[in-house]
Amino acid sequence: MKMQLGEIASAVSAQNDTSAWNEIEVSSVAFDSRHLSAGALFVPLEGERDGHEFVQNAGKNGAVATLWKADHGEAPADLPVLVVDDPLAALQALSQHYLLKINPKVVAVTGSNGKTTTKDMVAAILATHFNVTKTMDNFNNEIGVPVTILSMEPNTEVLVIEMGMDRPGQLDFLSRLVEPDVAIITMIGEAHIEFFGTRDKIADAKLEITHGLKEDGTFIYDGDEPLLVERAKQVSQRQLTFGRQESDDMYALNVKGTDTQTTFFANEWPDQEMTVPMIGDYNVNNALAALSVAKLYRIAPQASAGAFTNLNLTENRAEWVQGSAGERILSDVYNSNPTAVKEVMAAFSAVATNGKRRVVLGDMLELGDQSDSLHASLETVFDSKLVSDVYLVGPHMKALYTALLDRFDQAHLHLYGTDEQAKLITQLKSDLTPEDIVLIKGSHGIHLENVLAALQ
Ligand code: ATP
Ligand code: MG
Repeated sequence: MKMQLGEIASAVSAQNDTSAWNEIEVSSVAFDSRHLSAGALFVPLEGERDGHEFVQNAGKNGAVATLWKADHGEAPADLPVLVVDDPLAALQALSQHYLLKINPKVVAVTGSNGKTTTKDMVAAILATHFNVTKTMDNFNNEIGVPVTILSMEPNTEVLVIEMGMDRPGQLDFLSRLVEPDVAIITMIGEAHIEFFGTRDKIADAKLEITHGLKEDGTFIYDGDEPLLVERAKQVSQRQLTFGRQESDDMYALNVKGTDTQTTFFANEWPDQEMTVPMIGDYNVNNALAALSVAKLYRIAPQASAGAFTNLNLTENRAEWVQGSAGERILSDVYNSNPTAVKEVMAAFSAVATNGKRRVVLGDMLELGDQSDSLHASLETVFDSKLVSDVYLVGPHMKALYTALLDRFDQAHLHLYGTDEQAKLITQLKSDLTPEDIVLIKGSHGIHLENVLAALQ
């Protein structure tokens, strides 16, 4: 971005006289004083530490000005300051000002799973015709969304933005902040059900992404999810559905997967094979959501297919890595929830191997009082003819362990406490042969990345 401090002062309704500094050029915003570029505006946020403590440090590292909370005592004298009621609200207001100024089309993506993947796919397809800015990393909350907006180059034509939520009202706020032209809900799962109670309430909260949708905007959603179909009736804007049914506007034909890629045809363009360079049928749904955007923006199917082939993923969550015994490991250690486990298990169980398939599963967190039943519900995706050994980690996995005793011999079923990773690693190292394939998946809080590292 590029703005003068005077423009910023008026966008954030600064309470102090800034006239002496109005011509200062600001080229970015930053809330981490250790990671900022020269020319940044520092935004002191209050989290575990109070950002106001780091204002001086930010100045030393190149910040040219800082926001300052009005009731936070004396503002520093050595750096130009904009005094505001609330720095976070000021950051959001500034991002809205900048968004209106650059005025790109905005595609907003939410959903229980598949947000980042779909965001990357949409961005890749649109980048074949437009200047696109997309969410970096996983910056998808009330801080990440404004930071993403403010990272836009002035020539941005389309902004593709991921929006996460773990409580009602969050998407309402973010959607109204950006007023998207396209709002996408990838799917409804059980992530964060602890805070919502039911999938119905999760669907209600996800639907908030339509609250700021422009009148002439388009709502794109999983047409095979009854909770969304029902709720979409309240949405007056144009709608496109995707999924696996012929009643969907965009559906997949002839889906075929290998261990590294998935091919399919979309009904809209039956002559154009699409290949996504990722394992898992579920990625076809993410791709169909992205193709719905392609249809809307009249992108030729060849261009979309090319974008999929060269996909630049923010973070490939389910990715193959090589283990030190020669085994291949499908690593998916950064998040987990019942739908995602079921989807990834289906893909993993279909991968050919001359050795054995072993599955390491860590607790799925934030499932509240439905945790036991949701853990136990994974039983159905385990077939002892396809999977030789199951290694479960964490107290919540007890419920799945008990359920699996019917399907697996106890010698092939292992349960570990979260502090017993060393024991698990020893067991795995003695069990693994070079021909084996291993799936490792769990909520990030279980830290299975340590097990992964020990096997590499
Ligand atoms: P986060 O909430 O962590 O930001 P996300 O919604 O951005 O997650 P991705 O990073 O795209 O999701 O994918 C994370 C994992 O979710 C994948 O590795 C896979 O296990 C699962 N997943 C992705 N897409 C789908 C889908 N459409 N349906 C079910 N599971 C999916
Ligand atoms: Mg994400």
